[in-house]
Amino acid sequence: MAVIEQKKNLNAFLSIYADEAIHRAELIDQKIKKHSAGKLAGLVVGIKDLICYKDHPLQGASKILDGFISQFNATAVQRLLDEDAIIIGRQNCDEFGMGSSNENSAFGPVLNDLDNSRVSGGSSGGSAVAVQAGMCQVSLGTDTGGSVRQPAAFCGLVGLKPTYSRISRYGLAAYASSFDCIGILANHVEDVALVLEVIAGADEMDSTVSRKEVPLYSQDLSSQNQKYKIAYLSESIENPSLQPEIKSALIETIEKLRSQSHTIEPIDFPLNEYVLPTYYILATAEASSNLSRYDGVRYGYRSPHSNDLSSLYKKTRSEGFGKEVQRRILLGTFVLSSSYYDAYYNKAQKVRRLIRNKMKEIFSRYDFVLMPTAPTTAFKLSEHSSDPVEMYLADLFSVQANVAGIPAISIPSGKDKQGLPIGLQLLADDFEECKLLRFSRAIIEINRS
Ligand code: GLN
Repeated sequence: MAVIEQKKNLNAFLSIYADEAIHRAELIDQKIKKHSAGKLAGLVVGIKDLICYKDHPLQGASKILDGFISQFNATAVQRLLDEDAIIIGRQNCDEFGMGSSNENSAFGPVLNDLDNSRVSGGSSGGSAVAVQAGMCQVSLGTDTGGSVRQPAAFCGLVGLKPTYSRISRYGLAAYASSFDCIGILANHVEDVALVLEVIAGADEMDSTVSRKEVPLYSQDLSSQNQKYKIAYLSESIENPSLQPEIKSALIETIEKLRSQSHTIEPIDFPLNEYVLPTYYILATAEASSNLSRYDGVRYGYRSPHSNDLSSLYKKTRSEGFGKEVQRRILLGTFVLSSSYYDAYYNKAQKVRRLIRNKMKEIFSRYDFVLMPTAPTTAFKLSEHSSDPVEMYLADLFSVQANVAGIPAISIPSGKDKQGLPIGLQLLADDFEECKLLRFSRAIIEINRS
């Protein structure tokens, strides 16, 4: 609690549940004494401001949800509580998860604890910095196009986006439903594995969640010296926008893996240039539909300046949503409009299928794909905020896993010349989280040696 108070200036939390957390800790202590405590007894977890926690505020870091209180627990939150985790607070993020630097929050940006003039990454920036600064042990973030992995990379953490449908989305405020995933940020692979095994799995409240059995990830982390076949994308390593130190870190890891008798080969991904546009067409289309529910009528912010129903809608939405969210709603509405639907939305759906098929074909030959998490390390505040396209390019490597629906993890892999953490990313086939976590642990060990 002292650290949270001392590091308030980082702006990682929007609410702190101090009294409640202390009360719960006392109850859990008693359970521990009686040997009846759950798997996560006493684990201090923070949750992104897009995940519902009953009777607590939820705003998606947006003015439009001013005063909104969750009426139920997200399934993931309920499962954390059932295993005796302690929820410490609600974490800052980009508004509705739209952004890559946490600068699009109605509550102001989150600062990187390593260098306060730099961004945390986004959109789960508060979730990453809270772990980085020692304010909690684990955070639940959301990853629609990289929002768990990219801030994890910028803050030197492990960040997992599981397979789409592995974790229930019940109680997760929607951005782009066919991409949205709850993800986990922590300092150690072991903590990520334990939390995943608690929150993943079938849920009658979400018809899209997989019924596949959930393995005991945390008990299966030893790699037993297994040798893997790994591919890396020539397009990502040769990309001119890739920061040279990240390229070197990638090459170094490739060489170390080779020297440990893993097979590691370059491959081409001819659809590479379509991945980012496909994501931004489909995600904005889904956002324009999902965010239509915020109209000022039933809950949240309502403009005091309106005099009829249509001006109530217009003024509430113009005053309640930030600039980036408005831009995306407009873009999404445009790609869904009848004259452009076939040219953009339909076309992007087809390309998405081709990208997924290509990734599936790669995973029929390889265990993993290795690539950078982001093209750069943590950039300066305001460095990209005036140019949205430049900001979208920060997602160049992270959106691929969301477009394909496959699991991906960012792991810390050294530092750049300025001492800022570098993140490398491993992608695997659907539901291969066990293998992914195991190999991530092995790579972290290799990089340490
Ligand atoms: N930066 C990406 C975007 O702005 C990803 C966001 C996310 O994963 N929630 O859409």
